[in-house]
Amino acid sequence: MNENRMTAWREEEIPCPRCGQLTKVKKYHIINASEKPSVKKEILKNKIYFFECDNCSLSAPLTYPSIYLDSKKKLAFLLSPELGEETDDLCEGLGDLTGYKRRYVDNINDLKEKIMIFENRLDDRVIELTKIEYIRQLEKEMKDDELMNILFDYSGNDMYMMVFFQKKGVGRIPLNLEFYRQIENQYARRLPVRPSEEFEKIDLEWAGNIVLQRN
Ligand SMILES: [Zn+2]
Repeated sequence: MNENRMTAWREEEIPCPRCGQLTKVKKYHIINASEKPSVKKEILKNKIYFFECDNCSLSAPLTYPSIYLDSKKKLAFLLSPELGEETDDLCEGLGDLTGYKRRYVDNINDLKEKIMIFENRLDDRVIELTKIEYIRQLEKEMKDDELMNILFDYSGNDMYMMVFFQKKGVGRIPLNLEFYRQIENQYARRLPVRPSEEFEKIDLEWAGNIVLQRN
């Protein structure tokens, strides 16, 4: 395996944002899921990319430039609150990623969602397009409330869209796979088979633009 693609981390001491106590955290620049499959679960269970304070028991996401690689599934996800020199260096160090699906996410929830989508052998582009259709159907509920987020999730064979409303809180809508396939077919011509050479941000905004182009 390319050495630059192996899991790499360093330990850092950072002050707790709530009580100030210095706490040791492991910061991963690279996480290679094919090398150590258990890291996938650790990310999903908030064991990685998370800050936990022993003193005041604050627990909060810890977002920093990091690459998640899965050479079996040919996935490369770049996680970082922002793009810049550090993320450029990180990506360049990986060498040739031809054939990899490259994605950029700026928060842990989106990273976890990407992992779960590909774990279920779905296409994140189709999932984002499907979300738009689901949001359209939620119009009535959005009249006196605000939809904060919508995320793919699953448990066993059941797949959902988790919807986060400001007032009503969290709800989940089963993902209708037949409907997903319909969307996939509808947009087939707009979704290139060959992965882009950029770390693409595939999110609701991206999907919204695709829908606009189609109409
Ligand atoms: Zn603390």
